[in-house]
Amino acid sequence: MATSTDVGICGFIGLGLMGLGMAKNLLNKRKHHLIIWNRDTSKSDDLATEFPGRVTVASTPKEVVATAQVTFTMLSTLEASAAVFEGPDGVLAGVGPTTSIVDCATLTPERMAEMAVQVEEKGAIFLEAPVSGSKAPAEQGTLIFMCAGDKGLYERVSEDLDAMGKARYFLGTVGAASRMKIVVNMTMGGMLACFAEGLGLAEAADLPLDDLLAILDGGACACPMFKLKGPKMLQRKYDTAFPLKHAQKDMRFAVELGDKLAQPLPVAAAANEVYKRARRQGHDDDDFSAVAEACMPPQVGKGKGEGANGDAGGVNGKSERS
Ligand code: NAP
Repeated sequence: MATSTDVGICGFIGLGLMGLGMAKNLLNKRKHHLIIWNRDTSKSDDLATEFPGRVTVASTPKEVVATAQVTFTMLSTLEASAAVFEGPDGVLAGVGPTTSIVDCATLTPERMAEMAVQVEEKGAIFLEAPVSGSKAPAEQGTLIFMCAGDKGLYERVSEDLDAMGKARYFLGTVGAASRMKIVVNMTMGGMLACFAEGLGLAEAADLPLDDLLAILDGGACACPMFKLKGPKMLQRKYDTAFPLKHAQKDMRFAVELGDKLAQPLPVAAAANEVYKRARRQGHDDDDFSAVAEACMPPQVGKGKGEGANGDAGGVNGKSERS
């Protein structure tokens, strides 16, 4: 079976928190030559400097796609996807019969289906491949890929997916992978919002929060996410692995999917509102564990009742623990 190593240059578009680690794994483990594009050119220039002679920085997404046999795209939102695919020098302008596109972002099933049609109308092939995992798994090559679309392309890029991930699933026609990804992130987002409420309630009830973490970790609620995020949430440090604005996007996608299917999602719908509150407090670009800020009782030193709108106070809406 041919792999993208056999067929030449590989493209990568979108070097954000996830894309950068993924591209580096393709460079380190697959020994590909990459042609890359990112809106903020400092990120693409830095990658080219780190891998001299192995990375070409393209001036447009069109150039990447027109040059590479397989292009991976890792953009953040529906708006980003539309801007990069549909602009005059965008991905679609470069697509031809020898092109293959693998889109790894978390988007809606409808958007993935639309992109698949747009790509396939030009004789090219499309694979939907959103991932589970975060910044560290992207760097370590331990993501989990959920794939759907062209099975032949899935097999052709299997070694690339294995360089970036520890597991992969083929789920059928385009849309299925995004639906699975939305369910996964809804579950994760709901769990973290409930955990944040637990911390908030424990704080309000004057309980030792370190002990709460230990008790949860010792019982059936133990999970890697609580173990990783819990201590940082107690310190109210939210170094970004998964931006909160993207977590809320995925909760919104879940609520929308539930609407379309008339499937009640009362817990996810409520959790979505908690993430929206954290966004209003200024935590868009913090890690999604900053959802804790939407759940903390009013700050020590503030009068009772202040912050009752959920604002934990502090400069620019960011709280500081006293
Ligand atoms: P990110 O750090 O915000 O990076 C987003 C990427 O999209 C950057 O390359 C950014 O370019 C580009 N972009 C955004 N708006 C654009 C526009 N209007 N035009 C052109 N480029 C634009 O996001 P991320 O965390 O890497 O996430 C990427 C995708 O993976 C998202 O769909 C996210 O939901 C999903 N995901 C994330 C995680 C995670 O833990 N972070 C885990 C699983 C899945 P600039 O560099 O120029 O801003």
